[in-house]
Amino acid sequence: MFRRVAIIGGGAAAATLLSELLERESPQPLQLDWFTGGGPPARGVAYGTASERHLLNVRAASMSMFAGKPRGFLDFLQRDDPAIAGTDFLPRRRYGDYLEAEVARALQQGKARGHHVNILPFAVDALVPESGGITVIHGEESHPADAAVLALGALPPQPLAGVSAAALASGRYVVDPWRLLAQLAERQPPPRKVVLIGLGLTAVDVLLELSARWPQAEFVAISRHGRFPEAHLHAAAAPADDGAALVEAMRDAPEIRRWMRLLREAIAQQGTEWRAVVDSLRPHLPALWAELSPEQRARFMRHARWAWERVRHRMPPQVRETIAALERDGRLQRQCGRVHAVDVAGDVLQLTVGHAGATHVLDADLVIQTVGLETDLRRCNHRLVSQLLTNAHIAADPLGLGVQADGDGHLRHGEQYWPNLFAIGSLLRGTLWESTAMPEIRQQARHLADQLLGD
Ligand SMILES: Cc1cc2nc3c(=O)[nH]c(=O)nc-3n(C[C@H](O)[C@H](O)[C@H](O)COP(=O)(O)OP(=O)(O)OC[C@H]3O[C@@H](n4cnc5c(N)ncnc54)[C@H](O)[C@@H]3O)c2cc1C
Repeated sequence: MFRRVAIIGGGAAAATLLSELLERESPQPLQLDWFTGGGPPARGVAYGTASERHLLNVRAASMSMFAGKPRGFLDFLQRDDPAIAGTDFLPRRRYGDYLEAEVARALQQGKARGHHVNILPFAVDALVPESGGITVIHGEESHPADAAVLALGALPPQPLAGVSAAALASGRYVVDPWRLLAQLAERQPPPRKVVLIGLGLTAVDVLLELSARWPQAEFVAISRHGRFPEAHLHAAAAPADDGAALVEAMRDAPEIRRWMRLLREAIAQQGTEWRAVVDSLRPHLPALWAELSPEQRARFMRHARWAWERVRHRMPPQVRETIAALERDGRLQRQCGRVHAVDVAGDVLQLTVGHAGATHVLDADLVIQTVGLETDLRRCNHRLVSQLLTNAHIAADPLGLGVQADGDGHLRHGEQYWPNLFAIGSLLRGTLWESTAMPEIRQQARHLADQLLGD
């Protein structure tokens, strides 16, 4: 068992692990140092939004923090409003309330059990791992720990290639859409023509908020395929089956092209809703990903990743309706294309967009990069991650999917894995593929708590 544990990160993953640890009986009292990075602990990026328009993209019944208490979030909601159903898509702000309430409860419970928790509202600058212990450093201070867990979420977004220094300096090119949404009041007067690069769930969030706050603005959203994520059904699709036959067939032939064919066949044969087939794979994804060779993983990233993300990470139906209304009203236009360059041209930004062998130019008052979560350690601007990489304490996933780690979250250095340095959440995408949403994170938190408290 590790008695003194440093948890580094202030979001839902860190909060879930902390609560899991404090809920358990342990042979000795724990000393937990929780470095929250400065923001309000527990909510993180996803659940720190104050907007009622930003909904969970997972139904309430599937959003418990705890793998062992599947109704957790629903029970929390129904205490105030028994009419809320498990199939509802609730505002993410409410999930932040739930995280905070659970952390507060766990802290009390932990205290009664003799555990000690130090909440440190600082970003960790450096870690010095050794097999016997880890030194955690922030500013001039250092804290000894037996083990440490990186729960850093996604890394700070970086500008796309082709964006000029002048465009970045102009204040008209937004690299971090979450920071923009948090500081909207400061952007006066509101822009008229806004271009979004990327059409995933981040773009959807940004459109929902900006189209309401800037009623005169018009939007162009560009991506290679020009398509938004699919939507959930109003009522959950009945499960196809447990997916066992499909999974077995996929494991027998771990090749992306074959997997795509198997998926299409499964959907056609079962005559069922495609969403049910996609969802039936969810618990098996880490094992399936582990079957793929490095070449097949690279092939997936090149050819299938965006198609998969579109069907797997879906938006609530009411959100889809709002986006469709913006398109019908002519306020939102979708374009297929790849943005080659963004530069300043007088009072506006000018984008050079390539599509089907031709290029065209687009002007915008404001360009927002909405390309999804950044997990490429090799191009990141994160002090702790850079220090760990520079000192070869960790290794970057070769496809830009976080850190190299084993299936239990132990981080790799050289040819070995640290016994006492772990990660949870988005940084583990290279090992587990699906590792960003709560249904995966709560399983990881439970398993990690078992390991930290085990013999
Ligand atoms: C907009 C959005 C909507 C989402 N919606 C859903 C949803 O509906 N359902 C779902 O299941 N999932 C959703 N997700 C996925 C989401 O990633 C997870 O649910 C969860 O929020 C991840 O939490 P996290 O703690 O891993 O990351 P984050 O919330 O990003 O937290 C990471 C934390 O680490 C801190 N940190 C970074 N560096 C340091 C350092 N050096 N020292 C200390 N602290 C540091 C940061 O300040 C931050 O507080 C959404 C994600 C986003 C971005």
